[in-house]
Amino acid sequence: MTTTAPRPASPALDGPGARPLLDGQRTSGEQLLVKVFVALPLLALLAAVPLAWGWGLSWTDIGLAVFFYFLSGLGITVGFHRHFTHRAFKATRALRIGLAVAGSLAFQGSIITWVADHRRHHSFTDKQGDPHSPWLFGTTPVAVAKGFVHAHLGWLFERDKTNAARFAPDLLADPDIRRVNEQFLGWSLLSLTAPALLGGLITWSWWGAATALFWAGLVRIAVLHHVTWSINSICHMIGNRPFRVRDRSTNFWPLAIASMGESWHNLHHADPTCARHGVQRGQLDMSARLIAIFEKLGWAHDVRWPTPRRLARLANRPQDELEDLADPGRPPLQDAGRRPRATRTTRRTETDDLS
Ligand SMILES: [Zn+2]
Ligand SMILES: [Zn+2]
Repeated sequence: MTTTAPRPASPALDGPGARPLLDGQRTSGEQLLVKVFVALPLLALLAAVPLAWGWGLSWTDIGLAVFFYFLSGLGITVGFHRHFTHRAFKATRALRIGLAVAGSLAFQGSIITWVADHRRHHSFTDKQGDPHSPWLFGTTPVAVAKGFVHAHLGWLFERDKTNAARFAPDLLADPDIRRVNEQFLGWSLLSLTAPALLGGLITWSWWGAATALFWAGLVRIAVLHHVTWSINSICHMIGNRPFRVRDRSTNFWPLAIASMGESWHNLHHADPTCARHGVQRGQLDMSARLIAIFEKLGWAHDVRWPTPRRLARLANRPQDELEDLADPGRPPLQDAGRRPRATRTTRRTETDDLS
């Protein structure tokens, strides 16, 4: 989805010395790449249903697909999201690089782009400036449907680039992460070739390589795409809100396993730096479980685990505290009935983009 609205002559500045929200626009080549990265796995997913009958889908393909699904998925949830975006825990250098690489296998953009976009989402959640809120067009049925499509995947085709110098200066200053970021296309290629290679070796056939490329490469990427995108769309629309937040984030239990704990999104917005999102009884959170294992192994430390006292406070946060958190310079949600354009000013800085 693209927009024909006039673009601002210059990106917004927060105030004296603040960095702009945006950093130019994607080139035509970059834009084409985004379309290929979205369309290719999607086409494979659409083809998968009829092909599953009578075409190749072996136990090897299923095993490889599950393995690469959780490898790349946990790279996103534990790595890109909880560690790099929100600093919910500290990690050894080897673990940091490993998580950065694992997340780069998900076809969801390079690590610095992903983190910058997501920190912008937290800075402006469900307000103008949020790159993927479903509530930016209004609340009529048509506007809500349009908002869902925009939040789910339409926003990916926006050409405006989030300014990494503002939202991810810590990652830009890290040579290891910059390297993984620059090698993004190589990691993407590996995300397709590694399942094909393993499938070929395990079955010792070209056919096994081809079916593994299809199922454990393209179809696996497409499924993970839609699960991740559902956090941006469904988990800001449908579900319950046990914690008081200033936005419309929800907990949506049906996606708990597929999203590896990320669909407890209401808690996440109430307490973004918390290492565990599924904090209530029976809420599965595979990503938090993995962080606990990393902590036991000594690879992760300073983990921000939730405490009962803090959770009780988050559930009963008084209204005036929520209002304090909100930026008074931003329009209320019901006024945000048009496309977000980054022409506004705000007092927020990159220091509060983490929380
Ligand atoms: Zn959100
Ligand atoms: Zn987040």
